[in-house]
Amino acid sequence: MTDIKSNYQNVLRDVEKIARDCGRNPRDVRLIAVSKTKPIEYVKEAAEAGAMDFGENRPQELVSKQAELPNLRWHQIGTLQRNKVRHIVGKCALIHSVDSLPLAQEIEKRAGALGIVQDVLIQVNITGEETKSGIVPGELGGLLEDLAKLKSINPIGLMTISALGNTQDENRAVFSKLRVLGEKFGLRELSMGMSHDYKEAIECGATMVRVGTAIFGARDYGTK
Ligand SMILES: *Cc1c(COP(=O)(O)O)cnc(C)c1O
Repeated sequence: MTDIKSNYQNVLRDVEKIARDCGRNPRDVRLIAVSKTKPIEYVKEAAEAGAMDFGENRPQELVSKQAELPNLRWHQIGTLQRNKVRHIVGKCALIHSVDSLPLAQEIEKRAGALGIVQDVLIQVNITGEETKSGIVPGELGGLLEDLAKLKSINPIGLMTISALGNTQDENRAVFSKLRVLGEKFGLRELSMGMSHDYKEAIECGATMVRVGTAIFGARDYGTK
């Protein structure tokens, strides 16, 4: 089995070193361990090594893991369909993938019914082509204006994904643009950077990195 504890500690040390090397406080970068497709035992291993934050992309999987380990902070990082919102609101610390008003309105409705405020990030598709999810930068201002009218959903930042084949310079360009957008709209959290590009993301101001493979090993979608 993958040595999850030492992987987690190595990635955490690396994240802290990268932050320090570029003059940032390591405490300002949260490491989210992306446990999607991995069994609950892997989550427990990482938690024993000190991990507090876990990312999932399928709502059903988030809900079942959250039920077993409710004291951890669960993050919905994958594309979210409106009909799945009711399952996860109130069970996850942060939804990273809000990319439309109808989705936000559904979150508003479900959070309101529970009497809570759901923190979310707006997913932005910086280049308009690498992934299908996320709004284009030009739509961000309008969406934030609409969200400001809602009471039970609280946008605290932005999220983006840089395309897999991008060079380091291309990653930096994507991440820098997200940071500029965050500054423009006064949003403090920036969720950006995965196993292969978290270094550039931290250098460009990431406050959360989402790391799966480097902690839990490669994912196998073929067998289940
Ligand atoms: C799977 C996933 C990650 C983690 O990717 P790794 O390359 O395994 O680190 C991060 N963010 C999102 C949105 C993901 O779906």
